[in-house]
Amino acid sequence: MGSMKKKFKKVLPLVATTVLATTALTTQTFFTDGQAQKVEAKESSMEQVKQNNPTWLAGDHHIHSEWSVGWDNTTNPPTPIRAGDAIYPIVKNAEKAKEYGLDWVMTTDHGGPNHSKVNLEQAYPELLKAREEVPEVLQFFGMEFDTPAADHSTLMIPKGENESEILYGIESQFNKRDPYPNDGSRDTESTMIDALNYMLKLDKDQQPIHIAHHPSRSAKGDGEWGQDTPEEFRNWNDLAPNISIGMEGAPGHQAAALNPDGTLDTKGARGSYGNYPTMGGFDQMAAKVGGLWDSMLGEGRHWWITATSDSHVNWRDGGSDFWPGEYAKTYIKAEKDYKDIMDNLRNGNVFVTTGDLISELDVKVQAGGKSPLFAKSKGNSASLGETLTIPGKSKDVTVTIRLKDPEAANSNGDTPQVKRVDLIMGEVTGAVNDRSSATNPTTKVVKRFTEKDWKQDGEYIEMTYTLENVEKDSYIRLRGTNTDQLEPAVDPRGEDPWTDLWFYSNPVFIKTAK
Ligand SMILES: [Zn+2]
Ligand SMILES: [Zn+2]
Repeated sequence: MGSMKKKFKKVLPLVATTVLATTALTTQTFFTDGQAQKVEAKESSMEQVKQNNPTWLAGDHHIHSEWSVGWDNTTNPPTPIRAGDAIYPIVKNAEKAKEYGLDWVMTTDHGGPNHSKVNLEQAYPELLKAREEVPEVLQFFGMEFDTPAADHSTLMIPKGENESEILYGIESQFNKRDPYPNDGSRDTESTMIDALNYMLKLDKDQQPIHIAHHPSRSAKGDGEWGQDTPEEFRNWNDLAPNISIGMEGAPGHQAAALNPDGTLDTKGARGSYGNYPTMGGFDQMAAKVGGLWDSMLGEGRHWWITATSDSHVNWRDGGSDFWPGEYAKTYIKAEKDYKDIMDNLRNGNVFVTTGDLISELDVKVQAGGKSPLFAKSKGNSASLGETLTIPGKSKDVTVTIRLKDPEAANSNGDTPQVKRVDLIMGEVTGAVNDRSSATNPTTKVVKRFTEKDWKQDGEYIEMTYTLENVEKDSYIRLRGTNTDQLEPAVDPRGEDPWTDLWFYSNPVFIKTAK
């Protein structure tokens, strides 16, 4: 499972500290020079630190460009109309991502008749230019896949010489909207299984990541599903656990209630969830404690959540979207390197936030009363996406949470405060018999932290909690908000998204020694 490799990596921070100190000194020296030089030196040293050390890197894996085209159906075959659906060039998206503090992005145009050629011949060369023009933002190639028998999803392609051909191979053979004339056999669950089998046959370093988008946007009601179902998630994840790794917890289109002048449109639905609404900006599949997500985690599945912009047209230009990074961020703890970012996304070393409520979230789960270093060396300590194995006797598990609530204003000019952090825990009981299962009755909020329960040190907030006598395989995850809602309420039409902010961590699993 690569855990040895991971352990070796953890030894590195000693070296890394030295690098950090040296870099800081260099920055100091430059500070005596002119302002421009000072800023430049600071930026390049920060870039260096990020390249050599795992830090929390903000990103967005769901961004449309002008190569999400419209179609002129009067011709045969239909002719793509550039900027017919989303309007911005790829380089503009990258510039905006940089402006809003993102380290990595992915361009994800969606398909249509022979769109695989549009991605290969038009979008990809533009991406290569954007990589040169905005090198500070790592830019993956991918697409918003028209998933056979399901809704949209991310296909994130590992950066490499063949990346455009890899995507072309998948899109042209399996995207349900690619064939012209339309081929109904593409829109079946077995075609999606064929697609995953095809991806599994690629070289390991060419295998994409697949993430379901706006998973219950097409659902009509509470606890109902639309195009995406729990069975499909389970089938995909069973077959390709390193490819099909999760879903958007928070969908994009969160500016749907913002008019171009910043006033609220009383009809706007967050996420464009026009049937059953989002909850605190999150999809019901992720937002409900003990719901679908917890059902998946209760099987011990590595099924992660992310948050994206789904940017097509910005709200200032009359659209329903925020720029990449303007509102939602997916943070991955990794070195600023394409491969390391993808590896850590696969590993679930990920948290998500809206409105820049937080910008770091380190969670350590530790068994016994041993010192952190001893626990780590024995493998008795775990962080996001990892599994802690409780050693023998003492079954107490300590959870330490350290988050950063930044003082800097967010993109709306606000400095939202974390009001509460919830520690959520559920049991891992193994594979469900009913593949449509979408509940985990064991999952509960086990501790609600407020100001009186934590220690504040500048922008950092730290809190600790001991789970006593953990006797069952379990997982924990975290959630926090700037609101007073104990559980995220359904979002009314016309809600100002900036007032209702949440962050979610991915889980840490706890295994009891048998
Ligand atoms: Zn979509
Ligand atoms: Zn989209």
